[in-house]
Amino acid sequence: MEGNMLENKMIAQRNKEYPLLEELIKNEEVFWVNPKYADFEEAIKKVDLTEEDIKEAEERLKRFAPYLMEAFPETKSTEGVIESPLIKIDTMKENINKKYNVDILGNLLLKCDNDLPIAGSIKARGGIYEVLKHAEDLAIEHNMLSIKDNYAIIHSEEFKSFYATYSIAVGSTGNLGLSIGIISAKLGFKVTVHMSSDAKQWKKDLLRSKGVTVMEYDSDYSKAVEKGREQSEKDPNSYFIDDENSKNLFLGYGVAAYRVKKQLDEMKILVDEKHPLFVYLPCGVGGGPGGVAFGLKLLYKNHVHCFFAEPTKSPCMLIGLMTELHDKVSVQDFGIDNITDADGLAVGRPSGFVGKTLEEMLSGVYTVKDQELYDLLRGLVDNEDIFLEPSALAGMYGPIQLFKSSLGQSYMAKHDLEDKSKNTTHIVWGTGGSLVPEEVKKSYYLKGNKM
Ligand SMILES: *Cc1c(COP(=O)(O)O)cnc(C)c1O
Repeated sequence: MEGNMLENKMIAQRNKEYPLLEELIKNEEVFWVNPKYADFEEAIKKVDLTEEDIKEAEERLKRFAPYLMEAFPETKSTEGVIESPLIKIDTMKENINKKYNVDILGNLLLKCDNDLPIAGSIKARGGIYEVLKHAEDLAIEHNMLSIKDNYAIIHSEEFKSFYATYSIAVGSTGNLGLSIGIISAKLGFKVTVHMSSDAKQWKKDLLRSKGVTVMEYDSDYSKAVEKGREQSEKDPNSYFIDDENSKNLFLGYGVAAYRVKKQLDEMKILVDEKHPLFVYLPCGVGGGPGGVAFGLKLLYKNHVHCFFAEPTKSPCMLIGLMTELHDKVSVQDFGIDNITDADGLAVGRPSGFVGKTLEEMLSGVYTVKDQELYDLLRGLVDNEDIFLEPSALAGMYGPIQLFKSSLGQSYMAKHDLEDKSKNTTHIVWGTGGSLVPEEVKKSYYLKGNKM
């Protein structure tokens, strides 16, 4: 009884401090503007990662291009570069304006990471990068490779049997497992993917068909990661890919920013003082959207405004940033159940590393209901003939929220952006979808209302 009273008192106190929590607990959609957002030059001083780190990652990926062309012929057309298109979606924009009764001003672009080769999701950036880095480190350490070599030699029986003596492990809600599983198995590694209960059956089947060991747990992502880490630690030849803390994953994702800059330049789209850029990134544990946002901030500084998108049932990064407790809190601590059809975002506890790195660089976080994801999914198919998986539509809700919510509007006013609205470019990061089997695609589509 007494404990209860104490608890109620603490809850009342906390809700007073963070009034938004009440709405989050009720699974309502919110738009949170980061009060710690700072001038880029100030914010970057507190971060120990630099542009050099991302350039190094980019160089490493270049070294591997000849290997990737051999091992994954679908990368031949881009000369071994794993990249996706950036396109205008004007028809979608028109229909969003009508359906949601908003007036999105400026360009609306979609970054089609659903079309990334090899893994069909944003995980083809970080996940594949980290495995390649590990493979390179091992081969150099054993005098099998020098960075001056043509890395096509890695696509050989000699290297495969070498890598077969090592293993790789990862915990995943699905897509990271796909990306790590596919590239590791191709190189020859023994690879184990520890899957959370929300991971889709077809992802497990696909991995098993490629010779990957899939372990299933009747619990959420954090548990799958913990189990993976535990098992991997027992084996000195095993390398654990740590989605919650890995700098390599983060840097692999960060390379995307430099590629986007090139694409914007080619499209003759300016980003500067008078032409702001807004980017909306679906967020799970934070590594993918965090790496991309970090890279973009390095390039465009105060001219880019990055927002993360989370399901109303899994607002882990929002709660971590707002309370400044980062990975010390989970959504379950607040009675939020972390059950969402956006499986890639079904993460209850955020990465502390990402939250702290972006603490002053991220503009804000908003949440979105699953039904909106389905409606937007259907709308994107009907209007642009592009299929994204539910998680990947979370970004599409960003411009709607920005123009519709009073907090979105006041963010624009505060940063003196209102009169620049029509010169603004909005990039919705479409994080995945091309590997989804046809019958699953159909069932998702049917869950959406017509726009
Ligand atoms: C993993 C994933 C994300 C988010 O990436 P995190 O690194 O978990 O934050 C977004 N969309 C899709 C489709 C994903 O698979």
